[in-house]
Amino acid sequence: MKEFKNYICGQFVNTGGTFESVNPATGEAWARMPAANVTETQDAISAAESALQRNDWTSLSATKRGKLLHRLADLLENKSQHFAQLDTLDSGKPIRETTIQTAYIAEFYRYYGGLADKLEGSHLPIDHPDTEVWLQREPKGVVAAIVPWNSPLFLSAVKIGPAIAAGCTIVVKASEDAPAPMLEFAKLVNEAEFPPGVINIICGFGENCGKTLSSDPRIAHIAFTGGPETARHIVRNSAVSLASTSLELGGKSPFVVFDDADIESAVNAQLAAIFMTSGQSCVAGSRLIISERIKDQFIDQLSALTKRIVIGDPMNPDTQMGPLCTMRQLNNINRIVSESIESGATLITGGKQLDRPGQFYEPTILDCSSSSDAPSIKTELFGPVLSVQSFDAEEEAVELANDTRYGLAAGVFTNNLTRAHRMMRKLNAGVIWVNTYRGVSPMAPFGGFGLSGHGREGGIEAVLDYTTAKAIWLRTSDSQYPNPFGN
Ligand code: NAD
Repeated sequence: MKEFKNYICGQFVNTGGTFESVNPATGEAWARMPAANVTETQDAISAAESALQRNDWTSLSATKRGKLLHRLADLLENKSQHFAQLDTLDSGKPIRETTIQTAYIAEFYRYYGGLADKLEGSHLPIDHPDTEVWLQREPKGVVAAIVPWNSPLFLSAVKIGPAIAAGCTIVVKASEDAPAPMLEFAKLVNEAEFPPGVINIICGFGENCGKTLSSDPRIAHIAFTGGPETARHIVRNSAVSLASTSLELGGKSPFVVFDDADIESAVNAQLAAIFMTSGQSCVAGSRLIISERIKDQFIDQLSALTKRIVIGDPMNPDTQMGPLCTMRQLNNINRIVSESIESGATLITGGKQLDRPGQFYEPTILDCSSSSDAPSIKTELFGPVLSVQSFDAEEEAVELANDTRYGLAAGVFTNNLTRAHRMMRKLNAGVIWVNTYRGVSPMAPFGGFGLSGHGREGGIEAVLDYTTAKAIWLRTSDSQYPNPFGN
């Protein structure tokens, strides 16, 4: 069985125990992973803390930090297929998707590599005589990055990139579900020759490794991606250090289609929005909100294409939908779909686990138009389940779309320009896609409203989360500083 190790202070180590990682396509264990315990997690934090004070990091210019990120990008790009295979093996995400995604991740490192020496301070037009004041941006300190199992290389790139550009050091905790790509990525960090301790990558369970990391007083910033319940633990834990947080949480994103839309285009985008990655995507467009006037035609076309999705071995390039990452998720989805049907939702297609080894669930469409209480409308399922609701008027579409405490993404399909502009303004989501869905880029900030979290990843601003502003005052007068009491 393949064995992976933690990467702490430039060394591949494992002192905290191990566990087996299961291939979701077969249900069989394929690799032994490190389970970082409290001591090992603290070692990683100590390594990042001492790197932050060591000369080989502090004296490195921002340009050289940027070059390290560029080197990491090149190494990742050269081996992107290898990383795509590891991600597919460990998470079950189809190879056709991991291949495209992994090849693009290098661009995120390049973007932040380029930004490293462009983080400028400013000179303030201060209202005091004989005084100059500057604002300087400094690295926040030791960053804890806690990532989920889905898209781990991407979700850590948007944390490691800006953290290193800002001059921070970092401990990345991979998820216990599918940690292989991150632990393998540590070899590239090593090959790129980052000073030891600057980037540490560990894998462990939430209740000890994650808790230790998020409650350690030496942590200055916690960048978290995962579910809202875990985020609540993390925010409570961070009360010890008062670390700042950026939280990228889940979603229950609406996909609104008006009767003036290009129907074929909208059907294709809805397929991508909910069934790519078996719906295991924070931005999954899991609520179709469709004009009553085109509902039947749209559903017919959508369910015909849904039934043609090729489900199977995610390593096969012809496979379009793979398994779910964990059995826990599959059971949860099964339960919520059953409860939704009991509450009055109509099953249009799918609705059950596939009769084959592995954690496969059918792509599922539920018509919830006459069941506004269906749990599938409110709960993030993180699986291939689409809930359908219909509307007559535009205001009703907005009301349905915003009827959620999440606010990560929203899709709108319309060919009416003025309506498109109204929808962009009215929808409560951090990312709005009009006549498209799922676009991501290093240049575009990404993040949510409400229960979907706070802070943004991607874009120039994201790097500011990893810096602290320092105001520096300089008295330019040669006269003596006056005695404040005048005696
Ligand atoms: P999760 O919240 O269960 O776990 C995420 C990470 O938190 C894992 O590394 C886990 O070990 C760790 N963790 C668990 N308990 C912890 C604790 N008490 N203290 C510290 N860390 C702890 O999420 P998941 O099941 O791995 O991923 C799915 C969730 O992630 C979904 O809700 C999804 O929407 C969300 N997600 C959001 C985005 C985004 O960018 N907004 C992207 C991907 C996934």
